[in-house]
Amino acid sequence: MRIAMVGAGYVGLVSGACFSEFGADVVCVDTDAARIARLQAADMPIFEPGLPELVRNNMAAGRLSFTTDLAAAVNGADAVFIAVGTPSRRGDGHADLSYVEAAASQIAPLLKGFTVIVNKSTVPVGTGRRVAEIITAAGGRDFAMVSNPEFLREGSAIGDFMRPDRIIIGSDDDRARAVMREIYRPLFLRETPILFTDLETAELAKYAANAFLALKITFINEIADLCEKVGADVQDVARGIGLDGRIGAKFLHPGPGFGGSCFPKDSRAVVRTASDAGAPLRLVETLLQVNEQRKQAMAGRIIAALGGTVRDRRIAILGLTFKPNTDDMREAPSLHIIPALQAAGAHVCAYDPEGMDEARPLLPGVQWCTDSWQALTGADALVIVTEWNEFRGLDLARARRLMRQPVLIDLRNIYSPADAAQQGFRYTSLGRPPGIPAAEAPPTDTPTTGDHPSS
Ligand code: NAD
Repeated sequence: MRIAMVGAGYVGLVSGACFSEFGADVVCVDTDAARIARLQAADMPIFEPGLPELVRNNMAAGRLSFTTDLAAAVNGADAVFIAVGTPSRRGDGHADLSYVEAAASQIAPLLKGFTVIVNKSTVPVGTGRRVAEIITAAGGRDFAMVSNPEFLREGSAIGDFMRPDRIIIGSDDDRARAVMREIYRPLFLRETPILFTDLETAELAKYAANAFLALKITFINEIADLCEKVGADVQDVARGIGLDGRIGAKFLHPGPGFGGSCFPKDSRAVVRTASDAGAPLRLVETLLQVNEQRKQAMAGRIIAALGGTVRDRRIAILGLTFKPNTDDMREAPSLHIIPALQAAGAHVCAYDPEGMDEARPLLPGVQWCTDSWQALTGADALVIVTEWNEFRGLDLARARRLMRQPVLIDLRNIYSPADAAQQGFRYTSLGRPPGIPAAEAPPTDTPTTGDHPSS
């Protein structure tokens, strides 16, 4: 099986590497010559755990290669995957399909013999048919369209790809289905559920999944706000509802609002599709507003925790990326929080294990630190924005010694209020009672909330 993967970003690179691991011959092609040059030298342009080894092994085995030459990649391919970006179109929230359409027109004249064109990018309903029209108009004849949306998560992308909850394949062409069955054969053998459906259903399923997950996050964030008002503990509420099999425990961790390359833009895109189709998705419209307001409100919480002003205060921010185990900064909450603190007069010093190269051009005026301890030295407050593992087990006593004021604002609930208070911190988290420093606490037993790591 020969596969051309058009686009070597998060999805194209991971998918291409995993298909080569399954035994296919894969050529990844990208218009970004610098990216391809790095990949040809087995140097990863993105941070993704396990990816360097997977790429190197399959390059060495001769099953995976990288090029900017689309004709060479498409030549002899049984399937050409399109995995280019579909960002939000400026202004109206529609998915920008210009990269998909450009790829389709470039591929069309290169097709020789029956080829399956597989759309892996997240695209609005109708795009598969539109791509088929573009290819036909540009002279492509013997081909069939498939929609095969991707559900991997950055940070655990390889595991997600190799052991997916399901695969969705949308096509009305039997030959295309047979090719897709062959490509995913190793997963068929592992009895991965595979849903064969039509193009439109496959396209919409991806958006419906992301909108639903975004809804779950937004719901627990609002419940966290309510907990604060009524004196309840959101961690226990989440556990109490998540143990119900109909609800499930995942995506019930409160935070500073979701970001990333998918949930915001895909929720916006499906809202546009729905409104154009005359079937508005009012829940999704609302969650987008709630999430945006939440990201903007987070700086206010930090300012309140410092007594109402951050002017000339030094604030240590730990974590910048939209989630741990990625260097992706797209729509990260830190992009709202840090400029708002700076506008209020704070001096922000920040550290992130992998995200600082991406973050630097987006966050002017920040002092970039080499580790957590440098960021904490002389700080008036520590703010956990992204729950990287290395921040979960910080030596709080050492942090306390380095800081000017013992203020900890935990926007991911990775510490227990009791532990933070015991170390002398004034502790603020989301949806839980605040921690009172041991020195100021009344002489009763401090209630513990147990260990509730967020994911
Ligand atoms: P990305 O921006 O990381 O990568 C896209 C790549 O495509 C870039 O390297 C770009 O140079 C290349 N490209 C653009 N036009 C090209 C062309 N004509 N020919 C060759 N290369 C071209 O994007 P991504 O995060 O991989 O997302 C790709 C698609 O997958 C999007 O639709 C996204 O919504 C979807 N998706 C992303 C994720 C994720 O976690 N990132 C998960 C599931 C689905």
